[in-house]
Amino acid sequence: MRIKKCILMFLVVSITLIGCTQIGMKEYTKNIFALDTYITLTAYGRRNTPKILEKAAQRIEEIENRMSTEIDTSDVALINKNAGISPVEIHDDTFYVIERALWYCNMSDGAFDITIYPIVKLWDINGDNPRVPEKEEIQEVLALVDYTKVILDREKKTVFLSAPNMGIDLGAIAKGYAADEVVRILEEGGIEHGILNLGGNISVIGNKPDGTLWNIGIRDPREEETGSQYLAIAKISDCSIVSSGDYERYIKDIYEKTGIRYHHIFDPKTGYPADSGLIGTSVISKRSIDADALSTCLFVMGQERGLDFLKNVEGSSGICIDSAKKIYISSGMDDVLEITSEEYRLEK
Ligand code: AMP
Ligand code: MG
Repeated sequence: MRIKKCILMFLVVSITLIGCTQIGMKEYTKNIFALDTYITLTAYGRRNTPKILEKAAQRIEEIENRMSTEIDTSDVALINKNAGISPVEIHDDTFYVIERALWYCNMSDGAFDITIYPIVKLWDINGDNPRVPEKEEIQEVLALVDYTKVILDREKKTVFLSAPNMGIDLGAIAKGYAADEVVRILEEGGIEHGILNLGGNISVIGNKPDGTLWNIGIRDPREEETGSQYLAIAKISDCSIVSSGDYERYIKDIYEKTGIRYHHIFDPKTGYPADSGLIGTSVISKRSIDADALSTCLFVMGQERGLDFLKNVEGSSGICIDSAKKIYISSGMDDVLEITSEEYRLEK
């Protein structure tokens, strides 16, 4: 009888404890604007979660202060100011991102090129005075785009742009790095479930709190035509999915008048917005820095070259959407992706 009572007591206590654990876990959200985009960090945890989210937000701001081209004192701005003059000693964070970015520049044979900055400035798609430059201007500025002229010194942690007027732009990779850092901080704080949205770059921690996979909508690049916000759902856990597309930033008034979309992802071989036939790409990788760089690579390379290239990068899978609304996927994507829009067709 006593043993039975003990077992009963044990069960009651255990059930109460499990109940408390779940009651104790709440959803906390933090919104910030940084890295030129709206960021939402959501974590499921206990009362200390807001503090952890605050620490993560500060880390994003720190990364922005080191990597933004627009902040005068950032590592990137100092590297650009000293182009053709002298090497600049920079923080480990920035050095790490530049080193990883250069790996992608090399591997993609220059489809990805962080020295694209002079072209980015010339078109000013993201800025106040976007315009279509003259061919001659583009040719002149294009001579400055060459990632092989970025000289790293690993010992001294310096970066040198070897020709005057060159410049680097980490816009295609820095958000991915920031997302990885947020995941690290949240996990170190004991968070087991969370979802981060850095302007469409999504990273998830674990599964959803109920144990099922996260359902991440992939934006329909032609939302204004089709009327649907998403074209597919990716079912994922513990990884990142990042998208690139011609719909994110483009010169709107020219598009409305002519139907031509001058967008923000450039082909470093031509100096014009990439014209590979794709309107959107998404990549899933363990780490967001890779998914971010790769989605931009795929967009410039086009579906055939891009998906072939993806085979070099273990653990990453990709989606390419072309202007005929056909979807191409790499191996590894079959089980993850559910196409929800009838406007799009999966090509096998
Ligand atoms: P994402 O949205 O990640 O595809 O990155 C686009 C941003 O990266 C642009 O706004 C530019 O700042 C920069 N960028 C544009 N074209 C390239 C390119 N070919 N390689 C690397 N960065 C680029
Ligand atoms: Mg990118």
